[in-house]
Amino acid sequence: TRQIILQSRPVGTPTLQNFKLENTTLDQLQPGEVLLKGLYYSVDPYMRGRMNDAKSYVAPFKINEPLDGGVVATIIVSKSDNFKVGDTVVGRFPWKEMFVSKDDVLQKVDTNVPELSYYLSILGMTGLTAYFGLMDICKPKAGETVVVSGAAGAVGMVVGQIAKLQGCHVVGIAGTDEKAKTLIEDFGFDQVINYKTTKDIYKSVKEACPNGVDAYFDNVGGEISDAVISAINFHARIALCGQISLYNSKETPMGPRIQPMLLTRSVLMQGFIVSNYQDRFPEGMKHLSSWVKEGKLKFTQTIEEGFDQLPTALLGLFEGANTGKMIVKA
Ligand code: NDP
Repeated sequence: TRQIILQSRPVGTPTLQNFKLENTTLDQLQPGEVLLKGLYYSVDPYMRGRMNDAKSYVAPFKINEPLDGGVVATIIVSKSDNFKVGDTVVGRFPWKEMFVSKDDVLQKVDTNVPELSYYLSILGMTGLTAYFGLMDICKPKAGETVVVSGAAGAVGMVVGQIAKLQGCHVVGIAGTDEKAKTLIEDFGFDQVINYKTTKDIYKSVKEACPNGVDAYFDNVGGEISDAVISAINFHARIALCGQISLYNSKETPMGPRIQPMLLTRSVLMQGFIVSNYQDRFPEGMKHLSSWVKEGKLKFTQTIEEGFDQLPTALLGLFEGANTGKMIVKA
């Protein structure tokens, strides 16, 4: 079988040379283990942090070992009493086309869903991230203005739609006119700012939010966030979900001094990691899956075909190559 290993650690923006596709052999199957074939692999912005040798909330990838992440897989051989051949499972698995796993880390999934890859996105981590960051930190109320950056991505497009379900005025920020059009026409956003073509992001935010910003769901950080915070309202809430604009920076750039704004307007700003909400995942899943079933929450994905496309797909996240969740189909 084939695997993709981390060949070297990037400095700044990663390149394909940091990865290597190679052949490997399969481990012998022991009792209580299964042999799996990967169907859909998730690539996520947090993986960039794991390419560094730095302590964080997930361990770094090791040099010359396969990367790993969320995978939907099917069982092809089973020595487990709990799983049979043909079962579909989701879990965190190595970037190998086939792999052996103990059965106690497998989560069996219902295959009666629009797409199995949804377990890596809207019915998985990214959906839960959007749900808890928005509902628990941004606490949107009907009539308020909610801004979301990274709006056309996996998390962002769910945040915007849930905010609409709460009766808010929703403004997204994304990197192409096509993404802006999709968010407005297909996903019900009220307005979307293209941060790459606007001449003055500060002015664009003020125009899109005539009543100011009551809640900001931040996926990107940097200048986009400086601009949103310049329009922040009294008692606004800011959920710090991601800072993708800074993940490849060699040093952290300084923004304008926004703290006085946060102070005088009594703003609450809180970072979070989705796993903080582990105990409440069933609650989040219940809402997400029923909204999806009722057609109230829609979703889209960018699917790259072929296991060997994993590195390209991962790097694509930093260039905005995806609308919705970036997925690799083996
Ligand atoms: P996305 O699907 O949003 O993919 C990344 C998107 O970010 C790209 O499509 C691109 O869209 C945008 N982007 C890339 N570079 C920049 C830049 N320099 N400035 C502005 N936008 C940029 O990924 P996810 O939905 O999976 O993740 C979104 C954010 O949420 C990430 O920051 C991620 O780290 C974070 N996250 C946090 C979690 C948590 O537990 N706190 C869990 C999951 C994700 P565009 O064309 O608009 O530029």
